Formats: sequence, C-alpha cells, structure tokens
Amino acid sequence: MQKKVEIKAKFDLHHIVRGMKDILPQETRYWELIRRKVFELARDYSFQYIETPIVEQQNLFVRSIGEGTDIVEKEMFTFTDQGGEALVLRPEATASIVRAFNEHGMINQPQPVKLFYYGSMFRRERPQAGRQREFHQFGFETLGDSQAITDAQLILLAYNFFKELGLAIDIQINSLGNSQSRERYKKELAEYYKPKRNQLCDDCKKRLLKNPLRVLDCKNPNCVELSLDAPQIIDYLDEEDNKHFTQVLEYLDELELPYNLNPRIIRGLDYYSRTTFEIWPSGKSEGRQNALGGGGRYDGLSELLGGRPTPACGFAVGIERTISLLKEKEIFVPGLETPQVYLAQLGDVSRKKALKLYENLRREGFTVAESFAKDGIKPQLEIANRLNIKIALILGQKENIDGTILMRDMESGTQEVINYEKIIPELRKRLSKVNQNNGVKIIRTDISNEEIKL
Ligand code: AMP
Repeated sequence: MQKKVEIKAKFDLHHIVRGMKDILPQETRYWELIRRKVFELARDYSFQYIETPIVEQQNLFVRSIGEGTDIVEKEMFTFTDQGGEALVLRPEATASIVRAFNEHGMINQPQPVKLFYYGSMFRRERPQAGRQREFHQFGFETLGDSQAITDAQLILLAYNFFKELGLAIDIQINSLGNSQSRERYKKELAEYYKPKRNQLCDDCKKRLLKNPLRVLDCKNPNCVELSLDAPQIIDYLDEEDNKHFTQVLEYLDELELPYNLNPRIIRGLDYYSRTTFEIWPSGKSEGRQNALGGGGRYDGLSELLGGRPTPACGFAVGIERTISLLKEKEIFVPGLETPQVYLAQLGDVSRKKALKLYENLRREGFTVAESFAKDGIKPQLEIANRLNIKIALILGQKENIDGTILMRDMESGTQEVINYEKIIPELRKRLSKVNQNNGVKIIRTDISNEEIKL
C-alpha cells in the first residue's frame, strides 16, 4: 500500500496543479510586451506602481466583493493558517488597493491618488479556455476623485492599451446608480422575474432571492433571452447619477471613443456604483464570455472597508486573454533582443581567457552569447548562426599565442585577425554598421543546417 502511494506521488510531481499554468520561455515576449505597454501608459498618465501581497484576510473580499457573489461563494482559495487566521489568495486587487490606501493614510496625500498594479489573481473556477485558477491582471485605480472626467480618462487609458497593441475592442458601458436607486431597481427586477422563475437556471433561482441584479450577469442562454425585456437600470437612476453618466458619455464622445450602451453590464461584484464598463474583443457576439477586462466606479468601497469616504474608479485587464487575442489576430510581437556578439573558444587556455573577455565585453555594454561548455568551433558557430548573431569572436590556440582574436562576419563568413587589445573599438566600429532594426529582432528558432566553413 505504502509503495502505491509513493509511486503515485512521484508520478504526480510531473503535473502542475489544476487550473494553473507555466509561462514558458517562448511565451515571455508577449508578457514583456504587455508589461512594457502597461508601464509606459502609467508613466504617460501619471499612475504610481503599487504591489500588495497575494495573501489577504478572507473578510476583505467577503465585505467588498459581497456574499452571494460567485467569487466569494465558490471561487476563493481560502485557508486557515497555523495561527487560526482566515486567509485567502486574492481573487482581485481593487479591495487590496483600497485596504492599502486606508492603511497607509493615502487620504492625506494630494487627491486623487493614482495607482496601478500588475500580478497574479486566484479564483477556483472550472478551468477552461480563457479561465484559469491562477491568472494575471493589471489594473489602474484613481482614488479620491468623483468626477465623470476621471471615469472617461480611465476608459480612454484602457482603450489605448489595446489600440496601441494593435487590438480592436468594444467598450460596453452602463451605470448602476447609487445604492438607493439600485435597491428600487432590484425590487422591480425581482417582480419582473418572479413569474418567469421556472425558466431560469438553478443558479439564477437562487440569485433572484439574494440579488436579482446578478441574473442579468448570467451566461445561460435561457437567462440571457429572458433578460432582454427586463427593466433597465438606466430608468431608475436619480438626477445626480444621470448627470454623472451623461457627462461620462459626453467626454467619450468628445474623444470620439466608440462605446455601446449595455444595460447588462452590472459586473459580478457588489462594490460598484455609477459607471461600469467592460472591454470586449471587437465584433465578438459572445463578448462577455471573452471579456478582456472591466471596471467602474466604487465610491462606497473605502467606507465599507472602514476607511474615510473616498470616491474612486478603476479597471482591471486580464493578461492571458489579451495574449490569446494577440495570437489569434497574429499581431507581430518582437522577440528578445538578439545578442550582438558570439564568443567562441577552443581549448582550456582559451576557455579561461574567454571567461574574462566575456566580462570585459559585458561591462563595455555589449550583449554577448557563449557556449563555454562546448568543445569544437563548429558547434559553437552553429549556435551563433541559429541565434542570428552577426559577429562572432573566435579565440583558438593560435590566437592565444599571437595575442589576437578572429572576428567573423557571420553572414558572409569572412574572418579577420584582430589584435587582442583592439577588440572593443573594432566591435564598436562594426556594430555601428550592422542594421539593428531599432535594436529589436526576432530570435530565429529554426536550426540552420548550413555548413559552416572555417
Ligand atoms: P473581473 O475582475 O472578473 O472583472 O476580471 C477582469 C478580467 O480578468 C476579465 O475580463 C478577464 O480578462 C480576466 N479574468 C478574470 N477571471 C479570469 C480567469 N479565471 N482566468 C483568466 N482570466 C480571468
């Protein structure tokens, strides 16, 4: 029996936990691109980077996201630690940002405080395409500002992120009003669904009792169909909410930013008020299933978490889904920079010398590739070729004795003997001639079988 368990355990160690994914080296160029774009936009729009821990108190999300939401009811990775504390792997970051805002007295800083984050989130959902249990989001949050122009500028920022990556998206927008108007609306909605209760899915039957708003968020085709004639929240907004929403739309019009008014965008979380929006890949009819991101205003969240009243607005974007779309649309994504120089060596003495030369070159600012563990020049040059490196330096036994090095033009195959002391200026001269295509090149992954003649 003991043996069986051991064998199974050994076998299982080859497998990742269900719903988690490795990000493999061939994927990193997508991640680099997105990270660069996020930080670039943050700089342009003056947002400051913040990191909060992955582990938070369970109650932080129960209070903010709300009991009765899918996330809190069934998707949180919760655990009690050795000290008896009820903890959770964060399912999203907005509540953590508000916690940090309150905890560090950011209300005393000039308002608004504009923060952005980037990191893993955890939801124990049923894994499927576009749904993982660990996934990554970045998000932008503006705290301490209630103006409609803030909502519009955040939507613009989200729009620009996708546009600048070459992705066409649709903005779906709605307003949830304030808590009083929402309560009135919920009652009307419950009245509307009551006679249709039997046609709703089992989850929605429960939702109807707890929070009828969530029925609008259901993806079951029957429930979607039934929601088409449901009363719309927009008719229940009070004057101030209406004014706010109209202003947001006017700003978007001013920016000529296309959007769809969508009364079904209620978002799955309790803390939203007024503006809510989602970002869908352009033209996808089942957009909501593939939502790239979403956000909205959460004016009451800070108070809900025990802080001072702090109006705020923000959004989050899913990185995995953005990458899937980049791939689907076959958007060109540059690879990591090709090293400028390859350093090849032959024999023990050269290997030692090459180890030191490598450091000199690196300190002088060159990007250098090597395969010091390899013997034989030919296999080393094959690697240089495969990496698409333009210049190889070859340090053989003869060069060692003569105090020289061979400089090989990898494209033409021509080689020149260079005095060891002149390596750096020679390299600079030659590299300035090589067209580096703005320094960004795709690494060739195909292995060339070209015969390399020495
Ligand atoms: P939400 O916080 O639910 O509004 O999610 C914002 C974005 O995060 C979504 O639009 C998705 O792009 C992404 N996202 C949410 N949940 C998952 C998941 N389980 N797996 C992958 N991406 C997700």
